[in-house]
Amino acid sequence: MTSERTDQHATVLRCGQVFDGMADQLRGPTEILVESSRITDMARAVHRPPGARVIDLTHCTVSPGFIDTHVHLTMDASRLPVQTLESCVAKALTGLGIAREYMRYGFTTLRDCGSLDPEFPTVDLRNALAAGLVEGPRLIVAAHIISASAGHGDVRGFYASRWNLPVSAVADDAASIKALVRREHTFGSDWIKTANTGGYFSPGDDPARVTWFDDEMNLLVATARQLGMPVAVHTGAAEGCKQAIRAGARSLEHAYLIDAEALAMAERSGTFLVPTMQMTREDTQALHAHTLPCQAVWKFSRDSGQIVESQRLIAHSGVKIAYGTDCGMFPFSHGILEFQAMVAAGLTPVRVLKAATSVAAALLGQDEIGVLMRGKQADIVAMPGDPIADIRATANVNFVMKAGVVYRNSVE
Ligand SMILES: [Zn+2]
Repeated sequence: MTSERTDQHATVLRCGQVFDGMADQLRGPTEILVESSRITDMARAVHRPPGARVIDLTHCTVSPGFIDTHVHLTMDASRLPVQTLESCVAKALTGLGIAREYMRYGFTTLRDCGSLDPEFPTVDLRNALAAGLVEGPRLIVAAHIISASAGHGDVRGFYASRWNLPVSAVADDAASIKALVRREHTFGSDWIKTANTGGYFSPGDDPARVTWFDDEMNLLVATARQLGMPVAVHTGAAEGCKQAIRAGARSLEHAYLIDAEALAMAERSGTFLVPTMQMTREDTQALHAHTLPCQAVWKFSRDSGQIVESQRLIAHSGVKIAYGTDCGMFPFSHGILEFQAMVAAGLTPVRVLKAATSVAAALLGQDEIGVLMRGKQADIVAMPGDPIADIRATANVNFVMKAGVVYRNSVE
């Protein structure tokens, strides 16, 4: 993907309809003036600076750039045990290609939720993107997945026991937990990612079981808080969701088996939820096609009904829901389908659109993105149709601008 860099510093987008990230309704014909990287005006008709480029999006609905708050750019689930052994550089370069391709679907900001590597491939990738050395989406990273041994972050079970490969960030006592959190900060992680229950694709654990003791979870979050780092918690069992909320996690990831009590706690505490619903559809298809990895089969066939029931509870709760996919665990080309999966679970289309824009930006603490208004970063996408009337419109993004630079324009 190459951007259309020009000497022009002003662009006028003529929009048919606008979802601004905040309002429940689309607004009608609107013009957006973009100068350098920012939106400098937004009105029925804006002033046109001399030489301004005009882009005709009058047949489209325009939205803030989408934000996927849960991806794994350096993991490939289809061959995870072998791919994990690749070099840090190979993972970062492959991740760059994936991130750039994923931006074409409309995702201008990503949070990477962990790599399996002794080094920090996503941190180096983030730095290269932020410095403008390479082009691609904004990237925020949680470098590794910290867990207890025998927890979801412990993938040593993929290999024979004689290999003590340094690919898992595991800790089993207070000093080690503090040291791992501090190490993430030392080498540039933005977030702390931890897992307090097992997962489905990991080899030696169970999503229905809580793997940190309460004092361990509390210590992990307190150490992160001291360093100014928010904590995202991979969690499954309802008791795991409650433990993470009580400890002060900023987001629950997946929350596969969450119950009504935990959802009420999350609402009261303001904890965000990233429910990764498309992944459950992918896993269900794989289960029926007999392509699910064997370590996932017994767990997922036991839990799939409960996961769907929990998704229904999530959809009918008032909790803050942010868009996140877990792509890397399934192909990035399906990440855009999370919009449809969330609506299928019972969320309204406008809530899902906010989940991928303003609510995701709030989760990430990024107040410059996720909304369209004067003064904000010009991260802007467009699609034919009306995504509030039919959420499937989100799968047809044909215009992508990030920080005022056009990366995709299949409209003109
Ligand atoms: Zn994940």
